[in-house]
Amino acid sequence: MTAALAHPDPGSPSDQTTHHTVRAGDAGSGLSRWHRQEILPWFGTDAQRRLRGSHAAVVGCGALGGAQVDLLARAGVGRITLIDRDVVEWTNLQRQSLYVEDDARRGVTKVAAAAARVRAIDSSIAVRECAADLVPENALECIGDADVIVDGLDGFETRYILNDVAVSRGVPYVHCGVVAARGTTMPVMSGARSGGAAGDGAAGGPCLRCVFDEPPAAGAEPTCDTAGVFGPAVAVMAGLAAANAIRLLAGLRDQVDMALVSVDLAGGAHGAGGATGAGMGAAGAGAAPIFMRMSLEGARREDCVCCGARRFEWLMGTRTSDTTALCGRNAVQVKPARAAGSARDAAAGTAGVGADCSGLHSLDALAARLRELGDVRVEAGVLHAMPRGEKSRAGYPIELAVFADGRTIVRGTSDIDEARRIHARLVGS
Ligand SMILES: [Zn+2]
Repeated sequence: MTAALAHPDPGSPSDQTTHHTVRAGDAGSGLSRWHRQEILPWFGTDAQRRLRGSHAAVVGCGALGGAQVDLLARAGVGRITLIDRDVVEWTNLQRQSLYVEDDARRGVTKVAAAAARVRAIDSSIAVRECAADLVPENALECIGDADVIVDGLDGFETRYILNDVAVSRGVPYVHCGVVAARGTTMPVMSGARSGGAAGDGAAGGPCLRCVFDEPPAAGAEPTCDTAGVFGPAVAVMAGLAAANAIRLLAGLRDQVDMALVSVDLAGGAHGAGGATGAGMGAAGAGAAPIFMRMSLEGARREDCVCCGARRFEWLMGTRTSDTTALCGRNAVQVKPARAAGSARDAAAGTAGVGADCSGLHSLDALAARLRELGDVRVEAGVLHAMPRGEKSRAGYPIELAVFADGRTIVRGTSDIDEARRIHARLVGS
């Protein structure tokens, strides 16, 4: 192994014709580092070569994104763009497998720590770091010329921006999400462009909005901060999503599973309601995993706003959060997109799965979740929460005031980005 480490694979992403013959990773055996993948009868050396010439953009480098980055890097993807807004924290180490104690101690950005890890796995991978919150203004620049967009996010809004980028640019997007012990994944190949490393030109299938027209109302769904995350559920979902991403990048589009797949590793034993306690199962059911697979055949909707009408509302910024600092109050008002959404959506009741169709907060459900984190009271239609130990970077304790119309005032900070992060973590985006 020492000899192999001293002579890393000299193949570079620009050297796409010779890299698959390079001897690396197993000095003396004469085998390429991807040998075990190349001998899979449905993969082979041609797919390996295409994979090496491809570019994946991973948005969100926490547990889910990090596990996918690891799989993509080891599989042989030649270029990887890492996009994340956070730094590594101690509570990440339970499940975010790219990071180690030293990263948390130093508080480095996740993209820097992930990039170092990718280079340690394979020094010839071209890594691009984007330490930013992906928003409409920077989305196209962050994604660049990626052949596949990989979802490692924990908030809903950004996924709708990615869906718009994917459909408008004709780039496949592999959606994935995990909360508590359950997760969901689906590939979006609606309008995917011809040629390139990722495709054979066959467009089709639904986009995210064909299946989930609207994100759930802010506060309607549990977040990782309130409901927790079970590491093995992340590994399962990351594996399913990366399997599709690798096939797309390797030009094996006909092998992509065109289905919405959901997995719940808590099964009937604990339910999936997280801190709300909802979904308690029958006694004696054990933690039997529940797998669900729904074919996406025929799921594309002609009347879809995104892939049907080709109106990219989220990428245009007309649907994203409206966040404003409240002058002189050390507070920021966050107005989620759902609250700012169109009357048509509210009238049609076209909320996403699990959402409150009125578009308003269910303050009682949110209160139940936030009670796990600190003092909560609901008075005159306003939920007041003081999460224990939650402080702004300036050192002020954080207080939330959540209104039934979807607005939240985050007190203790005047920093808009910080307020958005706190809102996304505790209330949900
Ligand atoms: Zn659509």
